[in-house]
Amino acid sequence: MPLPRHDFSASLALAHDDTDLRAQLVKYFKTDALARPDESDLVNSTMDVINWVVQQARSLYASEPTRLVAAISLASAQNALAVWSSSRRDWIVVSVGLMELLRNAVDELGREFARTFPEIMETGLMQRLQSKPPLRGGFETSLGSFLYFSALAFFAGHEAGHHLAGHDGYYVGGAHAEQSAEANDAADETWLAKQALEREADLIGLKLCRMSMTKLLSQLWEVDQYSVAERRSYQRVLAALLGTGAMTAALRITPRQIDWDDLPSRNHPPAVIRVLTLAGSMSRSINEGFSDLDDISRKWIRLMSLELVAGATINPGTEADRVYQARLARGGEPAAVRATGMRKALHDPRFHDYDARLDAALASIKPRLRPRTVG
Ligand SMILES: [Zn+2]
Repeated sequence: MPLPRHDFSASLALAHDDTDLRAQLVKYFKTDALARPDESDLVNSTMDVINWVVQQARSLYASEPTRLVAAISLASAQNALAVWSSSRRDWIVVSVGLMELLRNAVDELGREFARTFPEIMETGLMQRLQSKPPLRGGFETSLGSFLYFSALAFFAGHEAGHHLAGHDGYYVGGAHAEQSAEANDAADETWLAKQALEREADLIGLKLCRMSMTKLLSQLWEVDQYSVAERRSYQRVLAALLGTGAMTAALRITPRQIDWDDLPSRNHPPAVIRVLTLAGSMSRSINEGFSDLDDISRKWIRLMSLELVAGATINPGTEADRVYQARLARGGEPAAVRATGMRKALHDPRFHDYDARLDAALASIKPRLRPRTVG
């Protein structure tokens, strides 16, 4: 039996009757107003992206794939939610505020992408992608639109990841929000457990983003039989769009020095740790999902995706900006990951210890989780 398509109009009707969902929307977004499919061009384009992801995620459900449904909140807060309602629905909610933040960033990011990956821009696939019209809803360029697709697919995939991995067994309050005052309040073990669940959702999110982008790109490229060279070229484009799109999740974060000794006992863990964890997951995802690329290409794409997003987080006039500009002037690559301290942090042995602590935290809460997948 073919997998039923997700339909935003039908989900909107379900949402109106779902009191659990509405209570969580009010709690985290301060409003339960949801977007109609014809709300705006941006909403409409975004619904298409989310539908691709929901479809891929539903294919991974062992049973009841239609439990997974999505909605768009009209809130201006930049946030995304996973909500578990007593009606046995797995809700993904993304806010218009988050969509606008990403939409406003992607065209400039696309220009940076073109400067960062000149050889990828010359591939046949990339030329073809650029001949497509931009998404409707305020996008200037087709490259920016593809980066939006990738970033949004990653966010929606991350929420779907919380569902697929059964994190309702941990978030017994019925919801998990990406931005929340309470998320940072807990200390020690709770904080580690939550970060371990974030990493798990990231990995599934990257996989769903890759699956959705693969479908989209192969539809646009229209090549029946790939040669080895074409396959490699295809994977390079895909990996660069995936890496850059997913790392835009870091856009709101201003990297700063990491105080490893004080981690994670402090109440407000440095946001840059979240970026590093995501970068680690991205590396793993690119290593596992792109078998046609050699090690050097994979490493280069990983590093440069991080570099161009790190560059976008640097605020003009800051100390990091001064170091960044000086390094750029000397022709030193990768300037931004060095200037922000990310490079040093990534190679810090304590980062590997931290990763191992996340593994242990995840293992200890695994029995409570209720995965939706087979096996
Ligand atoms: Zn999350």
